[in-house]
Amino acid sequence: MYKLVILLSAFIGIECFRLKRDTEQHHPVKHWGYRNQDRSLIPDSWHKSHPKCYGEQQSPINVELAATVYGKELAPLKIKEESINGTEHETWQVKNNGHSVVMSVKDRNFFFKTRPEGMEYKFLQMHFHWRGSEHYVDGHRFAGELHLVHQSVTDESKFAVIGFLLRQTNHDNENLKPLVNILTNIVEYGATANISDFSLGNLIPFNLKNYYRYSGSLTTPGCDEVVEWHLMDNPLLDISDEQILDFQSIQDKNGFLIITNSRPIQELNDRVVKRSFEAHNLGTKRKYLKSASGLTDSSDEKSDLVKRLNIFVASCEASNVVQPEQELVEVPIQTESESDLYKSHNKKSQKVQVMTL
Ligand SMILES: [Zn+2]
Repeated sequence: MYKLVILLSAFIGIECFRLKRDTEQHHPVKHWGYRNQDRSLIPDSWHKSHPKCYGEQQSPINVELAATVYGKELAPLKIKEESINGTEHETWQVKNNGHSVVMSVKDRNFFFKTRPEGMEYKFLQMHFHWRGSEHYVDGHRFAGELHLVHQSVTDESKFAVIGFLLRQTNHDNENLKPLVNILTNIVEYGATANISDFSLGNLIPFNLKNYYRYSGSLTTPGCDEVVEWHLMDNPLLDISDEQILDFQSIQDKNGFLIITNSRPIQELNDRVVKRSFEAHNLGTKRKYLKSASGLTDSSDEKSDLVKRLNIFVASCEASNVVQPEQELVEVPIQTESESDLYKSHNKKSQKVQVMTL
């Protein structure tokens, strides 16, 4: 009798496991995503499962130059570096978390203080947003954005992000190469890799003078309004189209390529954006932005995406799930740029899901 109970329990356990596995295969766990992914997961729907995303102090925003206020008190941000075990090299762990490429450092601490408050923040991780920056400056959108996420040393509920806008260029950013080179190893959700030839100090300056500052939120769910944003006016970080394509080979939890992972801009409402520098000639600044951003307005961006990127490949497992308003079609891979998009898939022709923006 005792053995029978054990056998029965084991049988029930196995069946439950099968049921769970089958359920997950046919109805993947819904989380959140971006506009090229499942329609029920797009940013406009985030607030349904994450109510804070509907808040009044959300990020990102469009920084309208003429509405910014010079904050004389905003001193340069100076990043301090501290070796944990005396090693010269930085060892970084790079992870595909299903939404972005996230980098954390193992043998270093980085700190910076906000002025004039003197609040000290410790570096937690940094990650990338691609095929469109999250923040705009005067309506201009850039190729992508790098976020350095910090937590207050004295109050764990407070965060500060330093954001760098990425400018698309026709040459590779050499300092990004150690990272970009291993992206093919972390294509799948949850995958990690270590790199020891990447240096944060080579990628960005540690003395940051020109930035915009405002109070906002995390740009991903739960959208908590706990972030002091420091968006760098300069430098812009260069990135080539090829390097962006490598970021686009990253897959989400359901095996979809992450073609873009930028949240649309949010209302400023009654917030004020301060700048740490005097703007003597905003007209010149606007001209500069137009040539630097690469993505000049939303219609250009849309046509670019429609032409080159508004197609994405479902993995073998996820291609069984057809979402409403999506059409499953057979598309032969023809052009060089398209084949780059599918470099993680080596079939001649694949099932792809075509979506409208
Ligand atoms: Zn971010």
